[in-house]
Formats: sequence, structure tokens, C-alpha cells
Amino acid sequence: MSKVNHCVMCGRPIEDKNDLIVSIYSLLFTPKPLHNDCYAAAVRGKEVFLMGRMPVNSLGFNVLCIVDLIIMIWLLFESLYILLIIMLISIILRIFSWFLYERQYRV
Ligand SMILES: [Zn+2]
Repeated sequence: MSKVNHCVMCGRPIEDKNDLIVSIYSLLFTPKPLHNDCYAAAVRGKEVFLMGRMPVNSLGFNVLCIVDLIIMIWLLFESLYILLIIMLISIILRIFSWFLYERQYRV
């Protein structure tokens, strides 16, 4: 895995996994890689508009996904499929983030 992530804010490569923040960046809900510092600057600045306040690769988001899964099982039994699909978005984002950006840092 030689692909290096480039920060969407400054364009420089992100060398260390600890420096990687994956965040929802645009209205299209696409997760994008950022440096820790660039993310902090973006949150303070105007770029935050719809940029996720919670990074996709954070512990909080993982907890959210687990809660989502539990709710989804309940929705399945209640036949509330539209809500089920909405809940699925966060889990798809989590998988996307891992597949596109986090996977390559594994040694
Ligand atoms: Zn950066």
C-alpha cells in the first residue's frame, strides 16, 4: 500500500496515521482526509458549514455506528425501511473512510 493521503486543506501528504482526520467535507457527504491541525483550523474557520463536527475516524463516530446498528435491527423488525436506509449512511461513511484512507497506514 504505497498510496499516500493528501490533505484537502493544504495539499501536503499525511504521513502518520495519528495525524489523519477523516471528515465529511462537502454537501455530497464525501469523507476527505485532513491533517489534525488543518481540521482544527477548518472547524474554526468558515469551511465548517457542513463539514462534520465529528471526524469519521474518531471513537465517537465508532460509538455512533454501533448505536446505529442496534437501532437498525429494531427498525428492521418494525419494517421502517426508509429510516433504516438513513441510518445506513453513517455506517457506509465509516467503511468508506477505512477503505479509502485508513487502510494504507497498517503495517
Ligand atoms: Zn493539511
